[in-house]
Amino acid sequence: MKKLIYLLALLCTATGCSTKKEEVIKLVTNGESSYTIVIPPDATPVEVRAASFLHDHILKISGADLPVVSFGETLPEQCIYISSDPQIVTGDGFSIATAGSSLIIKGGIERGCIYAVSELLERYLGVRWYSPDYAVIPQQNSISLPAIDITGSSPNSYRNVNGAFTLNTDYKDFNRLHHISDMFADRYFVHTFNRLVPWETWFAGNPEYFSFMNGKRIIDQLCLTNPDVLRLTIEKLKEEMALQPEKVFWSVSQGDNFSYCQCEECSKIIGEEGSPAGPIIHFVNRIAEEFPDKVISTLAYQYSRKAPEKVKPRENVQIMLCTIELNRSIPIANDPGSKSFITDLQDWGRISNHIFLWDYTVDFAHSISPFPNLHTLQPNINLFVQNNVREHFQQTNTGTGHEFAELKAYLLSKLLWNPEADAKEIIREFTDGYYGKGGKWIRKYIASLERELKESGERLDIYGPPTNHQNTFLSEKNIKRYSRFLEKAEKAASGDRHHHLHVRTAMMPLQYAIMEIGKNDMFGPRGWYREVDGDFISRPEMTSMLESFYQTSIDCNSAPVNESGLSPEQYYTSTKRFIDVQVKGNLAFRKKVIADPPPAEKYSGGDLSYLTNGVRGASDFKVHWLGWEAQNFTLILDLEEVTEAKSIEISTLWEQKSWILHPASVACLVSEDGTDYSLLGKQVVEGDQRQEDVTRLFSFDAWGKSYKYVKFEVEGTLRLFDWHPSAGGGSWVFVDEIVVR
Ligand SMILES: [Zn+2]
Repeated sequence: MKKLIYLLALLCTATGCSTKKEEVIKLVTNGESSYTIVIPPDATPVEVRAASFLHDHILKISGADLPVVSFGETLPEQCIYISSDPQIVTGDGFSIATAGSSLIIKGGIERGCIYAVSELLERYLGVRWYSPDYAVIPQQNSISLPAIDITGSSPNSYRNVNGAFTLNTDYKDFNRLHHISDMFADRYFVHTFNRLVPWETWFAGNPEYFSFMNGKRIIDQLCLTNPDVLRLTIEKLKEEMALQPEKVFWSVSQGDNFSYCQCEECSKIIGEEGSPAGPIIHFVNRIAEEFPDKVISTLAYQYSRKAPEKVKPRENVQIMLCTIELNRSIPIANDPGSKSFITDLQDWGRISNHIFLWDYTVDFAHSISPFPNLHTLQPNINLFVQNNVREHFQQTNTGTGHEFAELKAYLLSKLLWNPEADAKEIIREFTDGYYGKGGKWIRKYIASLERELKESGERLDIYGPPTNHQNTFLSEKNIKRYSRFLEKAEKAASGDRHHHLHVRTAMMPLQYAIMEIGKNDMFGPRGWYREVDGDFISRPEMTSMLESFYQTSIDCNSAPVNESGLSPEQYYTSTKRFIDVQVKGNLAFRKKVIADPPPAEKYSGGDLSYLTNGVRGASDFKVHWLGWEAQNFTLILDLEEVTEAKSIEISTLWEQKSWILHPASVACLVSEDGTDYSLLGKQVVEGDQRQEDVTRLFSFDAWGKSYKYVKFEVEGTLRLFDWHPSAGGGSWVFVDEIVVR
C-alpha cells in the first residue's frame, strides 16, 4: 500500500507540472524512439497486458521497439507510464494525460489500462480492429502526439457481443468487449439445473426431485420446493467452487424448455408470487445465502420472465433477463407487442439492482440472410441502460460470413461502451474502412433494406426464414434494387483484395435469400426451374449463384449457415441435392400418397403431395419436409398402374438441435392389389445418432417385382437419446421425396 501511495504522489507531481496545449510528444522519429513504457514493479496482469498491447502496436506502426520496464527509483525522462488507479470510479474507466514530455495512462482497477491504450491507438494513431482478421494499423515512420488530457468510461460494466470474434484477444481488448469466461465459472454460465442435479443419476431412484407435469414426473426441470434438491445443489456447488475458487459468478438456472414443476407445493408458490419465477427466486435465494461471497445467477427466461410479486432476489443474486420472444423489426420501446417485456424489465428493476440483460440480435436459423435490425440496436441498448441494466449479453453468435457480422459486432461494441455514441457515424466509419470504395453502396443497400422492412410493417423473427418476407422487403422488385447496389459495391471495391472480399461476403445473405425463396417455389417465377411443355429446365443464373455463394464462403472461411451448425459445404451439397429434381423417369412424380397417422400440419402444411412433387427437401426442415412427432407411421404410394420399376427411395432428415432424428428403421413393402404386401427389406439406423449425415437415403431394390402400391413402415426413435440436451423429449422424423425408378 505504501508503495502505491508513493507512486500516486509522484504521478500527481508529474501531472502537476503538465503544461501548454501545443506541446507534443515525439514518440517515434524515423523508426527510432527514446521512449520507454513503464509499469509498476508489482504490475497486475492488466497493466502488463496494456503495456504489451501498446508496445506491439507501436512496433507494427513504426518499427520502433519501445522497451517495457518496471518503475524504478525515478521515472525516465521520456516515458509512457501505465498503471491502475483505484481512484478512478469505474473499473474500466481511464485517463490519459501528457505531463511534460511524458504520457501518463491511468486505468480503473478492472481493465481500464487496456482500454486507455485502445483509446490512444484508436483516436490518435488511427488503429481499427474491424474484425479479428482485419485490423487497420496505419504505417508511419514517425509518431507524434498532441497535448492530451482526456478521460473515458462506460456506464456498462460487462459488454459481451457473443460469438467467435471475441476469441481473438486483440480484437476483444481493442473493442472493449468481454467474454463469458470473464464473468462466469467454467460450465456454470446458463441452463445448469441438470448439471447440478443430473436426472441420469437421480431420476430412477428419486423422480420427486424433478418437475411434475400433467400427472407425472418428468426430467426437464427440477422440483425447486423439494428440500433434497436444495441440499444436493448446495453440495454440488461446494464441490465445484473448490475447483474454481477464483470464480465469483455461478449459474443456478432452469433448463432450456417449458416444463417447470407444477407439484402442489411449487404451484402454491407460483400462485402466491404470480409467476413461475417465484419458486426459482426462493430457491436461488437460499443458495445465495449459503454462498455470500459469490454471485448466484439465474434466468428470467420464457416461463420465468415475469418477476415474482413478493419475494426479492438477494443482493448476491444476478437476474439474467432474456428477450427471446421479441420482434426485431422496430425498437422494443416502440413495439406494442413488446409491452409485456418492458413491464417485466421494470418489475425486475424494482426488486433487483443486478440485471444481466440477454438480448438476441440475429437470425439464428438463417445466419446468412438479410436481417435489417441495425437501426434497433441503439434504442434497445438505451432502453436497457435506462432501466438500470449494467451487464449486457448480446447474443449475436457472430461468425464470418454471417449477415453483417463484423459491422454488427463493431457497432454493438461501440454502443455498449457508449450508448450515446453516434450510431450513424459509426456505421459510416466502419463501412468506409471495411468495404473501402464499396462502402457508400453498402450503406445504400442497408438503408434500402431498412426502409422496405419498415414499410412492410412485418415482424422480424430470430428464427424466421427469408421466405417470410418474399412478398415484402424481399420481393422480386426489391431484391433487384438491392442487387444493383451490391453489384456497384463490388465493382467499386475491386481494386483492393480485402475490401473486395468483404463486399462479396456482404453479398452472401442476399444470394442466400434468393436461393431459399427459389426453393420454396421450385417451378414458379422465382424458382430454380422453368417448366416448358412438361419438361423442367434449370435456370443457369440460379446454379451460378450457388457456385458463387459457395466460393465466397470458402474464400472468407465462413462460419455455419445456422445455429445448428450446418456448414456452407453441407448447405452447398444439400442444395445441389434439392435442386436435382426427380421428374424424368420417376414413376412416383405427382402420384398420390396417404399417411397413417397424418403428418404434423405445421411443416409444409402437412401436405402429402410434397412427397412426390419431384423436389427433395432442403437443409432447412421447414422447406419441403413433412414431420411426425414421437410416433411411428405408415405411408402408402399409389402408382396408378402396375409397374416393374427396379428401385424405390425415400429420404429422412437429421437436425438434432430441432429434435429431428433419422428414424429407427424404415421397411418397404410392395403390393399389386393394395391388400397383400410383400416385404422388400427393412433398414435399421444403428447407434444413438449423436452424429449423422443431414439427410439419409433409404433405397430398396425391387428387382423382379411387379406392383402398383408401395408401403413404407417408419419407426421413429420416439425419444431423444441420453446425449441430447433435451434427452427424453419426443423426437421427430422428417420425410421427403419418394422416388420410384
Ligand atoms: Zn415441485
